[in-house]
Amino acid sequence: MCRLQSKGSLCRQAAGGYNGSMVTGALFDISRFAIHDGPGIRTTVFLKGCPLACPWCHNPEGRPMDVERAELPEGAVSVGWRTTVDALMAVIQRDVPFYDESGGGVTFSGGEPLAQPEFLAAALDACGRHGIHRAVDTCGYAPRDTLLAVARRTDLFLYDLKVIDSRRHIELTGVPPEPIHANLAALCEAGANVELRLPVIPGMTDTGANVRGLIGLVTSLARRPSLRLLPYHRAAMDKYPRFGLPIPMPDTRDPSEDELERIRHQLTSSGLEVAL
Ligand code: SF4
Repeated sequence: MCRLQSKGSLCRQAAGGYNGSMVTGALFDISRFAIHDGPGIRTTVFLKGCPLACPWCHNPEGRPMDVERAELPEGAVSVGWRTTVDALMAVIQRDVPFYDESGGGVTFSGGEPLAQPEFLAAALDACGRHGIHRAVDTCGYAPRDTLLAVARRTDLFLYDLKVIDSRRHIELTGVPPEPIHANLAALCEAGANVELRLPVIPGMTDTGANVRGLIGLVTSLARRPSLRLLPYHRAAMDKYPRFGLPIPMPDTRDPSEDELERIRHQLTSSGLEVAL
């Protein structure tokens, strides 16, 4: 049985947009002046909660849905906070001149932003009312109607694909990939603007077989999105001990430039566009 669930429903939203100034959501970070989360200079908003459990996750503190207490060496702290859309917009609007200057905007990331669909929809609508470009960085594991409702208020999806083989995907992330693949096909059929992202994790996502599987999936889509490689950064795992967690892949190293080039070549020689 599919375990897709969402905390709320978008079905009751008005056709003209979600008046969600009173809707609250749980965040764990806001990064201003980000340059790797979509075009231009961006504010990246990190929403709490993710249904996956990737061992290479750079944001383990963002996976639990609730704002919880963590025991850090410096004492107990809250990981994340709850906020309203209005309060979030006050932060976002500070950087409108930078978005305008650079062709940037706001990226909703996480965690998995689709895990808080009402808050995400309300925040996207608020950005839309201010003419701010909106990107959603997602693993694609969400109910189809939630994803398509979000697509109507999103300018760009940054859509992560990890391991194509079903059994291996379940082993590594805890969930099956089929809903993720079907959601991607639905987004492409709906005409959404999608950039695919492959986190390059040595020994896990970088194998020839996995890249061939990825090529097969992308070439079967109604519209072929471009693809970007996201090299694994071992240094990001230093965060785990800070939250009292063991490092899940202590022996995994960063991919070399030669390995990245091999994957790029495998993708481009199959006719796929790889963004740098
Ligand atoms: S989908 Fe992203 S946020 Fe969720 S566990 Fe995997 S890497 Fe972390």
